[in-house]
Amino acid sequence: MNMISDALARVKPSASMNISAIALEKKAAGVDIIPMSAGEPDFDTPDHIKEAAKRALDAGKTKYTAVDGVPELKKAIADKFKRENDLDVDPSNCFVATGGKQIIYNALVASLNPGDEAVIPAPFWVSYPEMVRLTGATPIILETSAETEFKITPAQLEQSINANTKWLLLNSPSNPSGAVYNKEELEALADVLRKHPNVLILMDDIYEHLTYGKTFYTMAQIAPDLADRVLTMNGVSKAYSMTGWRIGYCTGPEWLIKAMRKLQGQSTSNPCSIAQWASVEALNGDQTFLDDWRKAFIERRDHLVARLNKIDGLECLTPDGAFYVYPSCEGLLGKTTAGGRKLNNDEDVVMALLEEQDVATVHGAAYGVSPHFRISYAVSMENIDKACDRFEAFVAGLT
Ligand SMILES: *Cc1c(COP(=O)(O)O)cnc(C)c1O
Repeated sequence: MNMISDALARVKPSASMNISAIALEKKAAGVDIIPMSAGEPDFDTPDHIKEAAKRALDAGKTKYTAVDGVPELKKAIADKFKRENDLDVDPSNCFVATGGKQIIYNALVASLNPGDEAVIPAPFWVSYPEMVRLTGATPIILETSAETEFKITPAQLEQSINANTKWLLLNSPSNPSGAVYNKEELEALADVLRKHPNVLILMDDIYEHLTYGKTFYTMAQIAPDLADRVLTMNGVSKAYSMTGWRIGYCTGPEWLIKAMRKLQGQSTSNPCSIAQWASVEALNGDQTFLDDWRKAFIERRDHLVARLNKIDGLECLTPDGAFYVYPSCEGLLGKTTAGGRKLNNDEDVVMALLEEQDVATVHGAAYGVSPHFRISYAVSMENIDKACDRFEAFVAGLT
């Protein structure tokens, strides 16, 4: 008997989490696996943030908090939006959830009905279309390519919008492509959105601090006239290497924040109290270490891209943000691996790399643009070199 709901039956499991699970199993079995599939920085959470969590624990801050976060954290969030994004928001209109993921989930579940459409540029974060499907609404995928650096054009956006369109979900810097929209590009999209006053805009700014030589902009900042329909979402996971603490936050239209509070109040209630206090310190405390992290990521990115582009059959852009590259593997398709696997698509390439070379990456099909695959460079330089040696050996073995 299968009693799964129709809503959940529409949803696919997360591909990157699947591959990371296989990689973990291999590692546990003693295989020297290079983990380039996970979407998290490899740095430890900084000590001053951990200390704040310990203080909160010792002070007995271990009980339920307000559903949408402790006042101190909401104040820190409002200050952050002012300081870094030029947004004037009241702490009462800031909202905290169990990760940026729950912010997005709450927002979509609180607003989408069957028949509604949500416009999603591809390559996309794997959870966007699945969350939209869960509500019974329809994801409208806008495919991009390396030619536009994996960014949508205003014309593409214009064409995708109709009377059913409820959301545009925009992620910059992008997971998986690393693409960053500059100010002019966001302004051009804002011009289109002005013509469609019923479309809400979700800005997924989770990689804000990971841009390399490019200034970060978010929609409510460059188009304040649209702010009453922009949900600006961020979190501490990627910026402060706090993925396990599970804190995300946002600000946006009052009616939506209120609806999200109602939903969260009847589902998970407040996010972890101790993690909230650690996040107060993350947002208010020292930020200087971020420069060192950025420097490390730039070095790794440049080294990885240079080595990948020397490999016959791979082609890779140099992305401006996040910690992923998204090379094309078109030149490998149609060939057969040393282990006898025929490479018909990017999933075949990724599975063969995992099985024959012990390197974990994620196939582009999971993100909606093939034939590509996502490589995370949130690993040591030594592992980047080892992985590239294995990519070279893999390609050398193809017939
Ligand atoms: C990691 C990630 C998130 C959310 O992460 P949380 O850990 O839930 O805060 C959201 N969007 C994108 C694109 C991500 O890569």
